[in-house]
Amino acid sequence: MKPQEVFMENLTDDTFNDIIGQAQTKKQLLSALIMGRHVIVVGYPGVGKTTLAKNVAKLLPEIMVNDCGFNCDPQNPICPRCLNKKSKHIKIKGERRFIRIQGSPDLTVEDLIGDIDPMKALEFGPLSIEAFTPGKIFKANNGVLFFDEINRAPEKLQNALLQVLEEGRVTIGSYDIDLTSDFILISTMNPEDFAGTEKLSEVFLDRFDIIIMDYPESVSIEKNIVTIKGEKLKGIIFDDQLLEIILKFIESLRHNKDLERAPSVRASIGLYERAQSNAFINKRKKVQLEDIYESMESVLAHRIKLKASLRYTIKPEEYLAQQFKRYIEESEKSGDLP
Ligand SMILES: [Zn+2]
Repeated sequence: MKPQEVFMENLTDDTFNDIIGQAQTKKQLLSALIMGRHVIVVGYPGVGKTTLAKNVAKLLPEIMVNDCGFNCDPQNPICPRCLNKKSKHIKIKGERRFIRIQGSPDLTVEDLIGDIDPMKALEFGPLSIEAFTPGKIFKANNGVLFFDEINRAPEKLQNALLQVLEEGRVTIGSYDIDLTSDFILISTMNPEDFAGTEKLSEVFLDRFDIIIMDYPESVSIEKNIVTIKGEKLKGIIFDDQLLEIILKFIESLRHNKDLERAPSVRASIGLYERAQSNAFINKRKKVQLEDIYESMESVLAHRIKLKASLRYTIKPEEYLAQQFKRYIEESEKSGDLP
């Protein structure tokens, strides 16, 4: 079954149900996947890009492959070991066919595509498949290749990937390697990089569709995420209204013009968890404002970045303390605080 067909069959109201909310993102992604198109998911760290890509892999059906580590189709193997007929057949689930590559300037074309082993090239001949050690892209065969922050990878690698996508083959050194592996490519970028200087070339971008994944659409959705994904400490009560206020505060930071980087959903989960443990340490059964306040420096301060004009006049933790104090005062006035 082709991936396209899988996603057509899985078409429900909530195909990617590991992600809470994000209806628009899910719809766009599904639409791209049905047509077998490559995508770049543009979103801030911590919004769930990896979870979404893993969810795509999870939807892929269990298949019979060779046990070579490259998910070779037994009828049509691609790796040196299988071509030498040394593999056994195994069943492998979609979620096991998820390969993550972290885009960084150190990443090489060889990491991604593979390399020619000089000793084996001498033994078997330079153009023999036995001399080739397949790279990560082959491990994603019949699965999902998740390329995180693809724009941070060197241009040379981007060009090699482009060649793979366009021609199904790639040149390593003086060798042309046919790349018959089949995979769904989901790459990511941070919005600042997408808008800023670390842009991908136009030729490269032209090969992809862009899927925007923003912060949770509402505080109530974020509350769902936080309470489902966050740890719950036994015996500690976290008042719903109080949690909502904290999440509204975090949400407000995302629109705060003083900040260059705002806290992610991970920060929200962090505050939720640490406030509970602080309540426990402070010998309380119910989370109080003070427990949240005590976790702020450790959880939030490094997750924000002040604008350059402010960075030298105030520390992030002091800035947060000020903002939080003001926020709580306003919530008290408006009667939102429990
Ligand atoms: Zn193989």
